[in-house]
Amino acid sequence: MHQIADGISMVDTRFLEHEGHTAVFIVEGRETALVETGHSTTRERVKNELAREGTVPDYIVPTHLHLDHAGATGYLADEYDATVVCHPSARDYLVEPEKVESLVESVRRAVGELAEPYGDAKSVEGEVRTLDDGETLDLGGRELEAGHFHGHAPHQFVLYDDETRSLFTADEAGMWMDGTLYQTSPPPNFDLETNLDSLDRLARYDAKRLVYTHFGARGDGEDDVREALEEYRDVLTDWVDRVETEYDRLGDEEEVVDEILAEAEFPDDWDETAVRETVRMDVRGVMIYLS
Ligand SMILES: [Zn+2]
Repeated sequence: MHQIADGISMVDTRFLEHEGHTAVFIVEGRETALVETGHSTTRERVKNELAREGTVPDYIVPTHLHLDHAGATGYLADEYDATVVCHPSARDYLVEPEKVESLVESVRRAVGELAEPYGDAKSVEGEVRTLDDGETLDLGGRELEAGHFHGHAPHQFVLYDDETRSLFTADEAGMWMDGTLYQTSPPPNFDLETNLDSLDRLARYDAKRLVYTHFGARGDGEDDVREALEEYRDVLTDWVDRVETEYDRLGDEEEVVDEILAEAEFPDDWDETAVRETVRMDVRGVMIYLS
Protein backbone atom coordinates (compact mmCIF):
# COMPACT_ATOMS: atom_id res chain seq x y z
CA MET A 1 0.00 0.00 0.00
CA HIS A 2 1.35 3.36 -1.01
CA GLN A 3 0.09 6.75 0.16
CA ILE A 4 -0.49 9.29 -2.62
CA ALA A 5 -2.18 12.10 -0.68
CA ASP A 6 -3.55 12.75 2.77
CA GLY A 7 -6.06 9.94 3.39
CA ILE A 8 -5.64 8.39 -0.05
CA SER A 9 -3.56 5.32 -0.69
CA MET A 10 -3.11 2.95 -3.54
CA VAL A 11 -2.68 -0.79 -3.95
CA ASP A 12 -1.07 -2.33 -7.02
CA THR A 13 -3.21 -5.32 -8.04
CA ARG A 14 -0.24 -6.75 -9.97
CA PHE A 15 -2.35 -7.81 -12.91
CA LEU A 16 -0.41 -10.51 -14.80
CA GLU A 17 2.32 -10.03 -12.17
CA HIS A 18 3.03 -6.71 -13.82
CA GLU A 19 3.81 -3.93 -11.38
CA GLY A 20 2.44 -0.52 -12.22
CA HIS A 21 -0.43 -1.60 -14.47
CA THR A 22 -3.67 -1.55 -12.46
CA ALA A 23 -4.42 0.12 -9.14
CA VAL A 24 -7.21 0.36 -6.60
CA PHE A 25 -7.46 3.24 -4.14
CA ILE A 26 -8.49 3.61 -0.53
CA VAL A 27 -10.05 6.95 0.37
CA GLU A 28 -10.62 7.59 4.04
CA GLY A 29 -13.03 9.92 5.79
CA ARG A 30 -14.87 8.69 8.86
CA GLU A 31 -15.99 6.00 6.45
CA THR A 32 -13.79 4.33 3.86
CA ALA A 33 -14.25 3.91 0.12
CA LEU A 34 -12.44 1.48 -2.11
CA VAL A 35 -12.25 3.24 -5.48
CA GLU A 36 -11.89 0.63 -8.26
CA THR A 37 -11.79 -3.10 -7.58
CA GLY A 38 -9.35 -4.55 -10.08
CA HIS A 39 -10.02 -7.80 -11.93
CA SER A 40 -11.76 -10.68 -10.15
CA THR A 41 -8.50 -12.60 -10.54
CA THR A 42 -6.49 -10.18 -8.40
CA ARG A 43 -8.99 -9.75 -5.58
CA GLU A 44 -7.06 -11.94 -3.12
CA ARG A 45 -4.12 -9.62 -3.36
CA VAL A 46 -6.34 -6.59 -2.79
CA LYS A 47 -7.94 -8.30 0.22
CA ASN A 48 -4.55 -9.17 1.68
CA GLU A 49 -3.31 -5.62 1.30
CA LEU A 50 -6.43 -4.21 2.97
CA ALA A 51 -6.16 -6.75 5.78
CA ARG A 52 -2.56 -5.80 6.39
CA GLU A 53 -3.66 -2.22 7.07
CA GLY A 54 -6.79 -3.25 8.94
CA THR A 55 -8.91 -1.49 6.30
CA VAL A 56 -12.56 -2.48 5.91
CA PRO A 57 -14.27 -0.50 3.14
CA ASP A 58 -17.80 0.77 3.67
CA TYR A 59 -18.17 1.54 -0.04
CA ILE A 60 -16.94 -0.17 -3.19
CA VAL A 61 -16.80 2.36 -6.01
CA PRO A 62 -15.94 1.07 -9.50
CA THR A 63 -15.58 4.00 -11.92
CA HIS A 64 -16.98 1.99 -14.84
CA LEU A 65 -17.89 -1.51 -15.94
CA HIS A 66 -14.67 -2.62 -17.65
CA LEU A 67 -13.48 -5.64 -15.72
CA ASP A 68 -10.09 -4.18 -14.82
CA HIS A 69 -12.06 -1.58 -12.84
CA ALA A 70 -15.21 -3.42 -11.78
CA GLY A 71 -14.49 -7.16 -12.06
CA ALA A 72 -14.16 -7.79 -8.33
CA THR A 73 -17.10 -5.57 -7.30
CA GLY A 74 -19.58 -8.31 -6.36
CA TYR A 75 -16.95 -10.39 -4.59
CA LEU A 76 -15.58 -7.52 -2.53
CA ALA A 77 -19.03 -6.13 -1.69
CA ASP A 78 -19.89 -9.56 -0.25
CA GLU A 79 -16.62 -9.82 1.59
CA TYR A 80 -16.99 -6.48 3.38
CA ASP A 81 -20.76 -6.16 3.36
CA ALA A 82 -20.12 -2.86 1.63
CA THR A 83 -22.44 -0.60 -0.36
CA VAL A 84 -21.62 -0.46 -4.05
CA VAL A 85 -21.59 3.02 -5.55
CA CYS A 86 -21.70 3.38 -9.33
CA HIS A 87 -22.82 5.34 -12.38
CA PRO A 88 -26.60 5.01 -12.97
CA SER A 89 -25.98 3.27 -16.34
CA ALA A 90 -23.71 0.70 -14.69
CA ARG A 91 -26.19 -0.41 -12.04
CA ASP A 92 -28.10 -3.15 -13.89
CA TYR A 93 -24.86 -4.64 -15.23
CA LEU A 94 -23.56 -5.04 -11.69
CA VAL A 95 -26.80 -6.32 -10.17
CA GLU A 96 -28.79 -8.44 -12.62
CA PRO A 97 -27.19 -11.87 -13.05
CA GLU A 98 -28.02 -12.18 -16.78
CA LYS A 99 -26.59 -8.74 -17.46
CA VAL A 100 -23.48 -9.51 -15.44
CA GLU A 101 -23.10 -12.64 -17.55
CA SER A 102 -23.54 -10.73 -20.81
CA LEU A 103 -20.98 -8.18 -19.65
CA VAL A 104 -18.44 -10.91 -18.90
CA GLU A 105 -19.14 -12.56 -22.27
CA SER A 106 -18.66 -9.33 -24.20
CA VAL A 107 -15.41 -8.59 -22.37
CA ARG A 108 -14.22 -12.14 -23.11
CA ARG A 109 -14.80 -11.57 -26.79
CA ALA A 110 -13.07 -8.19 -26.68
CA VAL A 111 -9.95 -9.22 -24.79
CA GLY A 112 -9.19 -12.40 -26.76
CA GLU A 113 -6.27 -14.25 -25.21
CA LEU A 114 -6.52 -12.23 -22.02
CA ALA A 115 -9.91 -13.75 -21.17
CA GLU A 116 -8.50 -15.91 -18.39
CA PRO A 117 -6.57 -13.27 -16.47
CA TYR A 118 -9.44 -10.82 -16.98
CA GLY A 119 -11.57 -13.20 -14.95
CA ASP A 120 -15.29 -12.93 -14.41
CA ALA A 121 -17.73 -10.96 -12.28
CA LYS A 122 -20.33 -11.78 -9.67
CA SER A 123 -23.64 -9.96 -9.34
CA VAL A 124 -23.99 -7.60 -6.40
CA GLU A 125 -26.55 -8.79 -3.89
CA GLY A 126 -26.34 -6.02 -1.28
CA GLU A 127 -27.04 -2.32 -1.38
CA VAL A 128 -26.25 -0.30 -4.50
CA ARG A 129 -26.27 3.47 -4.76
CA THR A 130 -25.90 5.49 -7.94
CA LEU A 131 -24.36 8.94 -8.27
CA ASP A 132 -25.71 11.43 -10.78
CA ASP A 133 -23.41 13.94 -12.42
CA GLY A 134 -22.21 16.33 -9.71
CA GLU A 135 -23.57 14.22 -6.87
CA THR A 136 -21.28 13.41 -3.95
CA LEU A 137 -20.51 10.42 -1.80
CA ASP A 138 -20.13 11.69 1.76
CA LEU A 139 -17.50 9.74 3.67
CA GLY A 140 -17.74 11.96 6.75
CA GLY A 141 -15.27 14.83 6.74
CA ARG A 142 -14.57 14.16 3.09
CA GLU A 143 -16.68 14.02 -0.04
CA LEU A 144 -16.08 12.42 -3.38
CA GLU A 145 -17.85 14.23 -6.20
CA ALA A 146 -18.86 12.16 -9.22
CA GLY A 147 -18.62 13.62 -12.71
CA HIS A 148 -20.11 11.76 -15.65
CA PHE A 149 -17.54 11.43 -18.45
CA HIS A 150 -18.45 9.33 -21.45
CA GLY A 151 -15.66 9.46 -24.02
CA HIS A 152 -14.18 6.16 -22.89
CA ALA A 153 -17.39 4.41 -21.84
CA PRO A 154 -21.03 5.46 -21.36
CA HIS A 155 -21.19 4.10 -17.81
CA GLN A 156 -18.19 5.93 -16.40
CA PHE A 157 -17.73 8.59 -13.75
CA VAL A 158 -14.61 10.31 -12.49
CA LEU A 159 -14.29 11.27 -8.82
CA TYR A 160 -12.98 14.47 -7.33
CA ASP A 161 -11.67 14.84 -3.80
CA ASP A 162 -11.80 18.52 -2.93
CA GLU A 163 -9.88 17.92 0.29
CA THR A 164 -6.62 17.01 -1.48
CA ARG A 165 -7.61 18.35 -4.93
CA SER A 166 -7.13 14.89 -6.39
CA LEU A 167 -9.03 13.90 -9.52
CA PHE A 168 -9.55 10.19 -10.16
CA THR A 169 -9.76 10.14 -13.94
CA ALA A 170 -10.81 6.49 -14.44
CA ASP A 171 -9.81 5.93 -18.11
CA GLU A 172 -10.91 9.30 -19.51
CA ALA A 173 -7.44 10.88 -19.43
CA GLY A 174 -5.46 7.90 -20.72
CA MET A 175 -3.07 5.51 -19.02
CA TRP A 176 0.03 6.88 -17.35
CA MET A 177 2.45 4.01 -17.05
CA ASP A 178 6.20 3.96 -16.55
CA GLY A 179 6.28 7.71 -17.18
CA THR A 180 4.52 7.53 -20.55
CA LEU A 181 0.96 8.46 -21.42
CA TYR A 182 -0.87 5.86 -23.54
CA GLN A 183 -4.19 6.01 -25.33
CA THR A 184 -7.11 3.89 -24.31
CA SER A 185 -9.85 3.60 -26.93
CA PRO A 186 -11.62 0.28 -26.37
CA PRO A 187 -14.69 -0.99 -28.20
CA PRO A 188 -17.58 -0.55 -28.42
CA ASN A 189 -18.17 2.97 -27.06
CA PHE A 190 -14.98 4.98 -27.42
CA ASP A 191 -15.80 8.37 -28.93
CA LEU A 192 -13.04 10.78 -29.86
CA GLU A 193 -15.01 14.05 -29.80
CA THR A 194 -16.64 13.24 -26.48
CA ASN A 195 -13.28 12.27 -25.03
CA LEU A 196 -11.65 15.48 -26.24
CA ASP A 197 -14.52 17.53 -24.77
CA SER A 198 -13.96 15.65 -21.54
CA LEU A 199 -10.39 16.90 -21.36
CA ASP A 200 -11.68 20.50 -21.36
CA ARG A 201 -14.22 19.60 -18.69
CA LEU A 202 -11.61 17.81 -16.57
CA ALA A 203 -9.43 20.92 -16.75
CA ARG A 204 -12.21 22.90 -15.01
CA TYR A 205 -11.80 21.00 -11.78
CA ASP A 206 -9.44 22.72 -9.44
CA ALA A 207 -7.26 19.61 -9.34
CA LYS A 208 -3.59 19.64 -8.59
CA ARG A 209 -3.08 15.97 -9.25
CA LEU A 210 -4.57 13.35 -11.52
CA VAL A 211 -4.97 9.84 -10.23
CA TYR A 212 -4.91 7.23 -12.99
CA THR A 213 -6.17 3.71 -12.39
CA HIS A 214 -3.39 2.77 -14.82
CA PHE A 215 -1.32 3.92 -12.91
CA GLY A 216 -1.04 6.22 -9.95
CA ALA A 217 -0.78 9.90 -9.12
CA ARG A 218 0.68 12.50 -11.43
CA GLY A 219 1.26 16.18 -10.83
CA ASP A 220 1.78 18.69 -8.10
CA GLY A 221 -0.16 21.75 -9.12
CA GLU A 222 -2.71 23.07 -11.65
CA ASP A 223 -0.09 23.52 -14.36
CA ASP A 224 0.91 19.86 -14.21
CA VAL A 225 -2.72 18.83 -14.50
CA ARG A 226 -3.36 21.13 -17.45
CA GLU A 227 -0.24 19.81 -19.15
CA ALA A 228 -1.20 16.17 -18.59
CA LEU A 229 -4.66 16.77 -20.07
CA GLU A 230 -3.23 18.63 -23.07
CA GLU A 231 -0.72 15.85 -23.58
CA TYR A 232 -3.56 13.34 -23.74
CA ARG A 233 -5.34 15.46 -26.34
CA ASP A 234 -2.29 14.97 -28.58
CA VAL A 235 -1.79 11.31 -27.73
CA LEU A 236 -5.41 10.46 -28.48
CA THR A 237 -5.71 12.55 -31.63
CA ASP A 238 -2.45 11.15 -33.02
CA TRP A 239 -3.56 7.64 -32.19
CA VAL A 240 -6.89 7.91 -34.02
CA ASP A 241 -5.15 9.54 -37.02
CA ARG A 242 -2.57 6.80 -37.07
CA VAL A 243 -5.11 3.97 -37.05
CA GLU A 244 -7.13 5.69 -39.76
CA THR A 245 -4.07 6.29 -41.94
CA GLU A 246 -2.79 2.73 -41.54
CA TYR A 247 -6.20 1.30 -42.30
CA ASP A 248 -6.49 3.41 -45.46
CA ARG A 249 -3.11 2.10 -46.52
CA LEU A 250 -3.46 -1.56 -45.49
CA GLY A 251 -7.21 -2.14 -45.65
CA ASP A 252 -7.15 -4.79 -42.95
CA GLU A 253 -7.58 -4.38 -39.23
CA GLU A 254 -5.24 -7.22 -38.21
CA GLU A 255 -2.53 -5.82 -40.45
CA VAL A 256 -2.96 -2.45 -38.80
CA VAL A 257 -2.43 -4.13 -35.44
CA ASP A 258 0.69 -5.95 -36.70
CA GLU A 259 2.09 -2.77 -38.17
CA ILE A 260 1.57 -0.80 -34.97
CA LEU A 261 3.09 -3.56 -32.84
CA ALA A 262 6.11 -3.80 -35.12
CA GLU A 263 6.87 -0.12 -34.66
CA ALA A 264 5.74 0.34 -31.08
CA GLU A 265 8.19 0.63 -28.27
CA PHE A 266 6.77 -0.98 -25.19
CA PRO A 267 8.90 -1.71 -22.14
CA ASP A 268 10.56 -5.14 -22.35
CA ASP A 269 9.14 -6.40 -19.09
CA TRP A 270 5.55 -6.00 -20.26
CA ASP A 271 3.54 -9.12 -20.96
CA GLU A 272 3.57 -9.59 -24.74
CA THR A 273 0.09 -11.04 -24.95
CA ALA A 274 -1.28 -8.17 -22.88
CA VAL A 275 0.37 -5.61 -25.15
CA ARG A 276 -0.93 -7.29 -28.29
CA GLU A 277 -4.49 -7.70 -27.04
CA THR A 278 -4.60 -4.16 -25.70
CA VAL A 279 -3.41 -2.70 -29.01
CA ARG A 280 -5.94 -4.89 -30.82
CA MET A 281 -8.74 -3.62 -28.57
CA ASP A 282 -7.71 -0.01 -28.99
CA VAL A 283 -7.56 -0.41 -32.79
CA ARG A 284 -10.99 -2.08 -32.78
CA GLY A 285 -12.40 0.77 -30.69
CA VAL A 286 -11.13 3.34 -33.17
CA MET A 287 -12.46 1.37 -36.16
CA ILE A 288 -15.91 1.22 -34.58
CA TYR A 289 -15.72 4.93 -33.80
CA LEU A 290 -14.74 5.72 -37.40
CA SER A 291 -17.41 3.54 -38.97
ZN1 LIG B 1 -11.89 1.24 -19.17
